[in-house]
Amino acid sequence: MKKRLVVQGRLSDAQLAELNDLFEMDELSKTTKLDAPENLALLAQAHGIIGSGLAITPQLLDAAPNLEVIATVSVGYDNIPVDELTKRGIMLCNTPDVLTETTADTGFALIMATARRVVELAEWVKADKWQASIGPALFGSDVHGKTLGMVGFGRIGQAVARRGALGFGMQVLYSNASPKPDLENELGAQRHELNELLAEADFVCVTVPLTAETEHLIGAQQFALMKPSGIFINIARGKVVDESALIQALENGVIQAAGLDVFAQEPLAASSPLPKMSNVVALPHIGSATHETRDAMAQRAVDNIRLALQGERPISLVNEETYR
Ligand code: NAP
Repeated sequence: MKKRLVVQGRLSDAQLAELNDLFEMDELSKTTKLDAPENLALLAQAHGIIGSGLAITPQLLDAAPNLEVIATVSVGYDNIPVDELTKRGIMLCNTPDVLTETTADTGFALIMATARRVVELAEWVKADKWQASIGPALFGSDVHGKTLGMVGFGRIGQAVARRGALGFGMQVLYSNASPKPDLENELGAQRHELNELLAEADFVCVTVPLTAETEHLIGAQQFALMKPSGIFINIARGKVVDESALIQALENGVIQAAGLDVFAQEPLAASSPLPKMSNVVALPHIGSATHETRDAMAQRAVDNIRLALQGERPISLVNEETYR
């Protein structure tokens, strides 16, 4: 008998066909809640769940006693209770590596856009305000030769740092759980305590995962340590930052600008002042959102779930202890 999959999220026709050859498939729309009453019968039979933004709770797991694997189409898994899965012997697979360079591109786009005021000035041109050559009030800040402070120095943090060091001659500082001597050699990067990094960097770019330890890692005290000319970039998760402290820091000139791909609440509430501020570039969580990368992420998730349900080791397994 074929195993059953619940699919919630975008897979290509070819990817769906690949899974359909091997498994019975139940496709849910993106807008339905995974644990809505009408889905409980599907969960009860499911051996695997694949999709993005999956809202997994212990109650949902109770409703899915046959579940062997969850394959999320993302590298971050802060929406999934990993310990609970591990306790039940359920594998969790994610999609690292294939999105690293694209997400780093997004980070660098935010660095350039905030420093050179690209969005603000493009809007200014659109509004027909370009009547004479611009004056210092609209000048930006250099990126090349400045100091880039990476908060988190894993795959994506290192890829942003490479762009800065090799492309823009930036000095790289990093704060990270463990030292990265290879990158220190490759890029001349220096490991700093977080507070020291905040005080020295011209650009502070956050790439740590959201965990109990990193929630609100950056708040009012941390913004106060940054230079008034400092630019803050977040491409990790919104809750790593105390968003009301960020708003205050931007309003009060504690820092100069922010480039944000992620927010405490997504989609961003209409009442949020952030996207309306001229010194903020706000993006709708597009870190990995290119055709090529989203397709590669979906394929990695398909490969992960196929291997897991065929009894083989998935390519990207978060909780190793569940693989027997
Ligand atoms: P990664 O390779 O695991 O890197 C995370 C780094 O953070 C690691 O180097 C880790 O240290 C460090 N770290 C973890 N907890 C820390 C703490 N408490 N203090 C200091 N450093 C800490 O992950 P990645 O692939 O670069 O992805 C990072 C995050 O980016 C993801 O978790 C996700 O939330 C986010 N992301 C966002 C988007 C987007 O669309 N905006 C796209 C992809 C990813 P060690 O090296 O010592 O373990």
